[in-house]
Amino acid sequence: MQRAAELLRSATKAVVIGHIRPDADAIGSIGGMIIGLEKLGIPCQGLIGQTTPIPDNMLSIPRAETISCTETLPEADLVVIVDCGSIDRTGALAQQVAAHPNTLVLDHHASNTGFGNHNVVAKVESTTSLIAELFEEMGIELDVELAHALYAGLVTDTGSFRWGTSRMHLLAAKLMDTGLNVRIIGEELMDNTTVRDTRRIGAVLANLRTYTVGDIKVGVLVANHGVISTCSDAAVESLVDAVRALDGVELGVVLKENDPDIWSVSLRSTSMNVANIAVKLGGGGHIPAAGYTARGDRDRVLKELLANL
Ligand code: AMP
Ligand code: MN
Ligand code: MN
Repeated sequence: MQRAAELLRSATKAVVIGHIRPDADAIGSIGGMIIGLEKLGIPCQGLIGQTTPIPDNMLSIPRAETISCTETLPEADLVVIVDCGSIDRTGALAQQVAAHPNTLVLDHHASNTGFGNHNVVAKVESTTSLIAELFEEMGIELDVELAHALYAGLVTDTGSFRWGTSRMHLLAAKLMDTGLNVRIIGEELMDNTTVRDTRRIGAVLANLRTYTVGDIKVGVLVANHGVISTCSDAAVESLVDAVRALDGVELGVVLKENDPDIWSVSLRSTSMNVANIAVKLGGGGHIPAAGYTARGDRDRVLKELLANL
């Protein structure tokens, strides 16, 4: 942490990169880093290594609108990578990040092996929690904007404070005391949806299938490309909550066909280590929540997953 603080303090131009297909922890970590470095007078550009724009619901996070979705790494003397368990999560920027001599990884994924020149990987609820701790050590003061960005990662990565340690509540209290409107933040990030999306998501839920492998029961939801290209990202991401804790089901799966025959697979379990399964299939994540990318038609992707349990 001390070394990380020194690196940040001595930067003259920084970039901060979050993972592709960003969630609120990735965007909140970028927003938080930008605001923190602003306070130190250090210019910092936020980046996501993809050309697809950031989901609409995440534009409510401070500085999200300044993040550039790009395949080119701008010149900088420090590259901070946040909420990425492995370098491929920086997407199109991966090779340029690997070639940079001064990279700092701030992350909380169980599968992170430390791919930066400097790595702070902690077992905490969100990457924004780690950033909050780092900023506190550095004497960077919280204000309502910084707190908003950090809270966005905390509230989403803890499933709205349903998992994590008491530390998450202590941090939430500190953040709220800056004057955050947590009700509006939660609505903007997680709840706002449309009648059309709700009906489409309902159709996906109605097609829930279960499979049995040995003594493991698996619940699977499939959002094909038609669903993905007509529903908001937030609506699609909400699907995973429906398979997280199905009675009698050990493993919940959502297959999301982001491009024809290219699938993001989300795994959730309260009894199995899904990070291991995801790593085996080329992805990563946390013990109860992980993911990977798969190719082929739906049946092939499902068969490959079931064969690897
Ligand atoms: P998701 O199912 O997309 O909400 O992701 C659950 C967890 O797994 C998050 O911590 C992600 O960072 C991680 N994860 C998801 N997809 C991948 C992937 N393709 N490669 C590595 N980690 C992933
Ligand atoms: Mn994330
Ligand atoms: Mn995270």
